[in-house]
Amino acid sequence: MLRIGVDLGGTKTESILLSPEGAELFRTRIPTRKTEGYAKILSDTSELIRKTAAHAGASLNDCTIGIGIPGIVGPDGLIMNANTTCLIGNPFQADLGRALNHPVAMENDANCFTMAECKLGAARGFDFVFGVILGTGCGGGIAINGKVRRGMHGIAGEWGHVSVDPAGDLCYSGIVGCVESRISGSGVENRFEKQTGAGLKFAEIIRRADSGDSVCKEHFEFFLEEFGRCMALVVNTMDPDAIVIGGGLSKIDALYSEGVARIKKYAFTKDLRTPVLKNQLGDSAGVFGAAWIGEARNAAPRGRPVLRFPGG
Ligand SMILES: [Zn+2]
Repeated sequence: MLRIGVDLGGTKTESILLSPEGAELFRTRIPTRKTEGYAKILSDTSELIRKTAAHAGASLNDCTIGIGIPGIVGPDGLIMNANTTCLIGNPFQADLGRALNHPVAMENDANCFTMAECKLGAARGFDFVFGVILGTGCGGGIAINGKVRRGMHGIAGEWGHVSVDPAGDLCYSGIVGCVESRISGSGVENRFEKQTGAGLKFAEIIRRADSGDSVCKEHFEFFLEEFGRCMALVVNTMDPDAIVIGGGLSKIDALYSEGVARIKKYAFTKDLRTPVLKNQLGDSAGVFGAAWIGEARNAAPRGRPVLRFPGG
């Protein structure tokens, strides 16, 4: 079987086609038009999957399909906790399966990322891994012995929505002052805009901080401090064998030096040895993880039933 993996991100949706041996045959990406609503996301995603299969001259029946989403498929099949909020409350897995006339496996994107880094990336060889996606939002996933740990509610690892600031803003999650509002890209940008009135991208805030801009420096400093405090929460709670960081902000080198020093400052041990690893698969972790989940789900369904449709 060929494998199609789709990573539905906050700003872009990427798809990959893998050969039966796991070689990359085709990859493409489109913008995620989340402001245009659920129906658009649904049609864009199904069109992307058809295009990906067609590239290899393959029928969808020759492929497994796995999707990583920025949310959770709830026990009732409805999407919960998605920062692409138009997905929330919709039966995305079932609707996509119907649109494609093919079963679709769906998994939280941070779980896809963590699994991919455990299998092929920076976290190979570690038994108990906490994966973090720091990007537009802030997600997390847990892998134990090469398998995703989903938890009773499907929220295992979702430390991005722990309230750490009672005076903070109300998050789309319904929780006030989430970790995400402190250390995600959008969180940093919102805080900066609130205090300065200027709408700067995080990358620009860092660039200006490097050039000596004192306001940007203060915001970057705040980010590093909060990163340490919020990651210490993970270390104290789970004490994983390794932490692997993905998402757009994982490219910030200071996370692995100054950031780790801040984790040490807040962790309940003065001898912190947890490796804090930069991902090795880059933006590809999401699609690779999704492609493997598709295969695994079709080969051996777990938990939720795989939705099958006539001809699928
Ligand atoms: Zn939240």
